[in-house]
Amino acid sequence: MISIIVPVFNESECIETFVSAITPVLSEINEDYEIIFVNDGSSDETEVKIDQAAKRNHKIKTINFSRNFGKDAAMSAGLKECTGDYAVLIDVDLEHPPVTIKEFHKILQDPEIYQVTGVRQGTSQTLLKGIMRKVFHTFLNKYSSIYFPENATDFCMIKREVIDAINSMDEKERFIRGLLSWHGFKTEYLKFKVGTRSAGVTSFSPSQISAYARKGFISFSTAPLKIWIMVGSFFASLSFLYILYVIFSKLIFGNAVPGFVTLVCMVGFFGGLNLIVLGVIGEYIAELFDEIKSRPLYIKKNSK
Ligand code: UDP
Ligand code: MG
Repeated sequence: MISIIVPVFNESECIETFVSAITPVLSEINEDYEIIFVNDGSSDETEVKIDQAAKRNHKIKTINFSRNFGKDAAMSAGLKECTGDYAVLIDVDLEHPPVTIKEFHKILQDPEIYQVTGVRQGTSQTLLKGIMRKVFHTFLNKYSSIYFPENATDFCMIKREVIDAINSMDEKERFIRGLLSWHGFKTEYLKFKVGTRSAGVTSFSPSQISAYARKGFISFSTAPLKIWIMVGSFFASLSFLYILYVIFSKLIFGNAVPGFVTLVCMVGFFGGLNLIVLGVIGEYIAELFDEIKSRPLYIKKNSK
């Protein structure tokens, strides 16, 4: 059985097109299937549209959230509740072409491969998104415990072993893409051509993407905390040399080194640096705070 997990947030116009695009593909694969729509607190007609689709196709299930909890929480809910031997994570807007699932499924027939992740070929994104993605992936691959190619997406198919592994991870700050790399099961990457959005607009603004990237990075890397040891050591050594210079120039040449401007610059510079470091520590403390509160990742209004 294949579980198709579809997070949806204000996507009433996309539901019908998505169902009619994916069902023929699934019927070509020789496996039973279920489509789980996780309605992430939509305020439009999304729930009604899903209900209508579910009346026509009994393999469609719904999890309705009480409010918007974010795409990663929605994907996590789908993974928790799915019953398939395989799960597919896919966007509803057809940017992830359903037909690719056939290739995913074929690749997963190899018993050694547990996950196939879609890698964006070309790009339908803006220049700004492209630059942000490049910076994020470069840093993440260099300074964290996980790896994924620059254009890797959430679009993937995984086996039950991976579903169970993800479900066993309790963290609240869920960066699913990271978790899907961290588990260590063998993953194959498959290029796909990004489709055009069937209707509506993206829910993610550049500032939301950058906040998301920052959180993702913090979840998987402690480099921003540790780098200050090196920066601090560098400046401490530099100051030490400067102190030696001041002492010797007084002892040997009798010069009292003038330095009012230098002093003001130094105080300003190191004050700023201290605040940056505090900010970085604050980010990690905020994350700890969220984890410790241990609130559930999402609240279900109902499931159908
Ligand atoms: N989505 C969601 N919760 C959110 C934002 C988005 O479940 O808070 C869903 C959305 O309905 C879609 C998928 O996540 O199925 C990708 O969203 P979108 O197309 O807006 O993002 P982009 O493709 O621009 O990354
Ligand atoms: Mg999209």
